Amino acid sequence: MWAELLPVGRSPASGGYRRYAWTGADADCRTWFQEQAEARGLAFETDRNGNQWAWLGDPAAGNAVVTGSHLDSVPDGGAFDGPLGVVSAFAALDELRGRGARFTRPVGIVNFGDEEGARFGLACVGSRLTAGALTVEQAHRLTDGDGITLPQAMESAGYDPDALGPDPERLARIGAFVELHVEQGRALDLSGDRIGIASAIWPHGRWRFDFRGEANHAGTTRLADRHDPMLSYAETVLAARREAELAGAVATFGKIGVEPNGVNAVPSLVRGWLDSRAADQASLDTVVTGIEKAARAYAAAHGVDLDVVRESFTPVVEFDHALRDELARILGTGTELRVPVLGTGAGHDAGILSGRVPTAMLFVRNPTGVSHSPAERAAEDDCVAGVTALADVLEGLACT
Ligand SMILES: [Zn+2]
Repeated sequence: MWAELLPVGRSPASGGYRRYAWTGADADCRTWFQEQAEARGLAFETDRNGNQWAWLGDPAAGNAVVTGSHLDSVPDGGAFDGPLGVVSAFAALDELRGRGARFTRPVGIVNFGDEEGARFGLACVGSRLTAGALTVEQAHRLTDGDGITLPQAMESAGYDPDALGPDPERLARIGAFVELHVEQGRALDLSGDRIGIASAIWPHGRWRFDFRGEANHAGTTRLADRHDPMLSYAETVLAARREAELAGAVATFGKIGVEPNGVNAVPSLVRGWLDSRAADQASLDTVVTGIEKAARAYAAAHGVDLDVVRESFTPVVEFDHALRDELARILGTGTELRVPVLGTGAGHDAGILSGRVPTAMLFVRNPTGVSHSPAERAAEDDCVAGVTALADVLEGLACT
């Protein structure tokens, strides 16, 4: 399966993946998924939001156990973020058939569309639409960098955008969703474990900081006469680092806009986007409040105006405790495998579905923790351990 997937959407220049929603690379990934389903005699279907499903047994029977992930990527993403969960799902099913497993519940494998949001700027569009967490009107307004709307992109890829919408009947058939994912951090590497179970997805958000000063000549304006928003911004970036360290959280200014953006001009505007995540709401509030307070003090010191706008926010997602305990029981029985339970700062389709369906996640060790980069890695024996763990979980949940 990897041999077929690895060349799809890979940039020769960067070695990274550019599998954006409703593009040719995305279509190739979708064809691959359908072929995998059909090669195994699974019933293949695409839902109204463009998510792909492969079924063993009749999903209408209800209480289905579903696994899977996504195949799209961030710009120049790694090979494992998403595809590892889909490849492992098919491999786990093969493993179970090899064991002669007798299924008592329908089993589904899913490829959620547009998980990374690389093209339209919103993550988890496929699962959000299905769960009703994104309205059709909001989805219709999504536009890519070339001015192409989501409905236009879907239509040109051969899908019907008029069908978009919530899908409660489909969700009602799912009794459990288990997403396997490469870890996007170093917790497993540091603890020396191959596999982990997710406890929660950290609350996270994005805030836009607009520092407004006064554009002026970089050669003739005395330092004392400047209202330079770049200075307040730079000090705020350092404050974000300090506040995050104090709270055991993360805070990142990773995107910036400058006006007039001239080499020989004091800027009039510096717009920076803060992404911050923490293990709990109180810590996140402390970090962001601390950064904003510092930013206001720096802005005042430089005669600069500051506006702070929260652009998005996702509260903490606690995965279903009963399902999590069931996974720990299944994986802890009769094996030497130690399976730690860990939180994550990354969002996932499993997090979107967790409000509607009992949901759990398995993480596979990432030796460097690097993700959203061509340097993302997982060792082959760790991936095999992931497949075995997922097969054990499916067997424990869906077989006699
Ligand atoms: Zn992912």
